[in-house]
Amino acid sequence: METTDKQWDPPSSRPWRQNEFFIPPDEETGFEEYKSTWGTVIDKVPSKPALKRGCESLRCGKRPDQEPEGKAGFPKCAGCGVVNYCSRECQKSDWKEHKGLCKMQVMNIQDERAAEVKARLDDTFFISNAELRKWYHENVDVVDHAIVQTLQLYKGRDHSLWRTHIVVFELNVDEFGIEFINARALPLDFLTKGSSTAAAALSHYDPGKRIIVMFLPNGVRSLTLIDNHEFPREEEWAGLREDERWRLHCSVRPAILEAVEGGGDFLIL
Ligand SMILES: [Zn+2]
Ligand SMILES: [Zn+2]
Repeated sequence: METTDKQWDPPSSRPWRQNEFFIPPDEETGFEEYKSTWGTVIDKVPSKPALKRGCESLRCGKRPDQEPEGKAGFPKCAGCGVVNYCSRECQKSDWKEHKGLCKMQVMNIQDERAAEVKARLDDTFFISNAELRKWYHENVDVVDHAIVQTLQLYKGRDHSLWRTHIVVFELNVDEFGIEFINARALPLDFLTKGSSTAAAALSHYDPGKRIIVMFLPNGVRSLTLIDNHEFPREEEWAGLREDERWRLHCSVRPAILEAVEGGGDFLIL
């Protein structure tokens, strides 16, 4: 039997990697309008799904994925619950260095509880450091790419800014989630000269020995997450490249995830 109803044929969609998108010009960054495909963006952002926090001990610095059994993650310090150690020996030998930070983290947690209570009373929005940290680890490849670019790690270990600068991430946070706005390198002495509390807080993070990142949600300067970031491995330094459009790549990243999950056709921004 013939039917008069024409079957509707959806337009054949291209694989999502080939889908194009367009970003309007941006006065602040000075970029012209920009046309690209998901594929080119994905290829620019290094993916490190296996990356979990390495051992806190500077003498060790081992990552869980360097273990023969490919551990999911190292156990946390029982005091602060923030840093990880590969072994009891590493924790013991690092205690002298970690003690100050451990105490500070515990105090931060208490301050944070007070701030949360206050925010509830004032009916204002609140985000905890734990939530910020979760965002950071879930988006570690974006964070990583931004760090490589802002600290110019592609210039090599000795010529990049990691010893003298920290990376400040500006985030927009509301009840819908966390959005990456920008990341910039700020000189360490700018932060430490400006404020003795910042100097004291930063001193626990071994400036000059680690990559330090700081998250500023909604421009709030108190209760800000400071953390250290994994170093590229020896063999990774050589593979780092300058990407002058990295800010655009970073800002479209959340949309990419949706595109992957939704399987394709998709408009941007
Ligand atoms: Zn260790
Ligand atoms: Zn601790």
